[in-house]
Amino acid sequence: MANSKRDYYEVLGVGRGANDDEIKKAYRRLAIQYHPDRNPGDRKAEEKFKEINEAYQVLSDPEKRGQYDRFGHAAFQGPQGAGGFGGFDFSQGFEDVFSDIFGDFFGTGRGRSRARNRRGDDLRYDLEIDFEDAHRGAERVIKVARLATCEACNGTRTASGAGGLRTCPNCRGTGQVRTQQGFFSISTTCAQCRGEGSIISDPCPKCQGQGRVRKLQSLSVRIPAGVDNGSRLKLRGEGEAGYGGGPAGDLYVVIHVKDHPIFARQDSDVIVEVPISFPQAALGAEIEVPTLDGKVKFKVPAGTQSGKVFRLKGKGFSDLHGYGRGDELVKIVVETPKRLSSRQRELLEEFARASGEDINHPMAKGFVDKIREMFG
Ligand SMILES: [Zn+2]
Ligand SMILES: [Zn+2]
Repeated sequence: MANSKRDYYEVLGVGRGANDDEIKKAYRRLAIQYHPDRNPGDRKAEEKFKEINEAYQVLSDPEKRGQYDRFGHAAFQGPQGAGGFGGFDFSQGFEDVFSDIFGDFFGTGRGRSRARNRRGDDLRYDLEIDFEDAHRGAERVIKVARLATCEACNGTRTASGAGGLRTCPNCRGTGQVRTQQGFFSISTTCAQCRGEGSIISDPCPKCQGQGRVRKLQSLSVRIPAGVDNGSRLKLRGEGEAGYGGGPAGDLYVVIHVKDHPIFARQDSDVIVEVPISFPQAALGAEIEVPTLDGKVKFKVPAGTQSGKVFRLKGKGFSDLHGYGRGDELVKIVVETPKRLSSRQRELLEEFARASGEDINHPMAKGFVDKIREMFG
């Protein structure tokens, strides 16, 4: 057995004359590399990690190092070491050494306060609003089912207040139980207190010792002008109540904007299609155009083509952060009459004759010319 053990200096990759600082540095580098947290399920890394720790336990202690230098591995084997020295327990103080060197690098010391005092979860609420509300902003009352601090025990979880909490005897309040597995000392969550470190002798009957109860609560939400589909409003501290005195989570209100019968939205611009008649398009006309702020008068210039887009400056959505407003884009659609009275037909035929072939329809003429070029 003694022969299978590697030399401690070799394990740490340092010379026999290495000073404490060099040993510490070498150990730190190797321990980080082979730490089980970084190599889950890797048996070789685990073996290596054990070996490194064992070497460090000896070489970092002047007395043990001296014994090792004189007697080699034999100094620490068997109930009675070969050199007459008692074997020592490697796992003794292992965690102390470890946390001394690494501090919280691997989160050692965790669990002590984590479970006992927890932040409440964040919540999400989907809120549907009207198109106009997205423009003007609105105030809404919403009902949220969330865990709230129990009023009966004020979140202390006990019927008698703080006095009802006593330290867990199983883990002595640490929430963690250490078990020995060979050389390793492994910390697991205490089963008796579920890692909280304390036990309630008289749980609050209202919340069954949870300190929180699920409640439907009304909340007023201010929706700022300019919100869009998918905007998230964060209501700080309006999520689930914290556990054991921890802070509450946040509530995220996700905005869904209903479609509008005539308006559409593109970023901060509003788009509206306005149908006009052929005579209005040809002759020009003053029409009324709907905007988010109400109707406005708009002059369609003579000779306006179908599909033409006019821009009404500053008639769009407010910027969510208060930087001005978008525009309204008015798209003109010229409507062709479907049913004609005989009088209308007569006049249109008259109009067609008067128009001749191409004088009044340069677009049509250009199109016909192009076809002629293509097909001869
Ligand atoms: Zn309670
Ligand atoms: Zn416990």
